[in-house]
Amino acid sequence: MRKVSVDPAAKTITAQGGALWVDVDDAAQEHRLAAVGGTVNHTGIGGLTLQGGYGWLSPQRGLVIDNLLSVRMVLADGRIVTASEKENTDLFWALRGAGSNFGVATEFVYRAFDQKVDPWCGLLAFTPDKLEKVVEFLNDAVATGKGRNGMLLGFACPPPTGGYPRSWFPFSTTEQKRRRTPRTRACLTSSPS
Ligand SMILES: Cc1cc2nc3c(=O)[nH]c(=O)nc-3n(C[C@H](O)[C@H](O)[C@H](O)COP(=O)(O)OP(=O)(O)OC[C@H]3O[C@@H](n4cnc5c(N)ncnc54)[C@H](O)[C@@H]3O)c2cc1C
Repeated sequence: MRKVSVDPAAKTITAQGGALWVDVDDAAQEHRLAAVGGTVNHTGIGGLTLQGGYGWLSPQRGLVIDNLLSVRMVLADGRIVTASEKENTDLFWALRGAGSNFGVATEFVYRAFDQKVDPWCGLLAFTPDKLEKVVEFLNDAVATGKGRNGMLLGFACPPPTGGYPRSWFPFSTTEQKRRRTPRTRACLTSSPS
């Protein structure tokens, strides 16, 4: 149950309950549209949507559940119902955050947004001495990016580097003006200086 269909005129995406975000992304991209999904596209849409869901478009568009238009669901008593702002509104309220407690969602309808600009994204890794500059850069980019930048900061001691600590951040941006990031020389393959 991974079928996804897109209505470009209505700007909606209808996805079956077993779809992954990659299915939604691939179908939406054909029309230069995008849904608010997760930051990776190999998770299922079911759990992520029913638990709230945030992703790269969230700074501009809100959570996945803010852009969920309806859910088709099989309830415990076998009934198949649609929940939306117009039908079964109490169930629709409950589904947006606690959804997996109420039944099996077989279909989700999401609001879609124009994605005419190709996002620029990647993963940068730095040695610990760059941490202060990395945090300064992230704070500035998020504060001034008008929701067009998304970034996550993490810490790791990956085995290929001999277990030396690293800070890293995956990012995505549609800002036209590229920012000058802290020096990327200290990447994952180098030793800390
Ligand atoms: C690598 C990784 C990156 C992640 N990144 C993000 C992120 O950027 N943003 C974010 O919000 N979350 C993120 N998550 C968390 C993610 O939202 C949860 O792991 C979510 O549960 C994944 O959805 P799933 O359908 O694969 O869930 P599953 O693990 O399959 O299920 C989770 C729960 O949802 C229920 N469920 C799943 N599908 C349905 C359905 N169709 N109907 C009813 N109940 C259902 C299951 O029964 C279970 O209780 C990430 C997780 C991972 C592993």
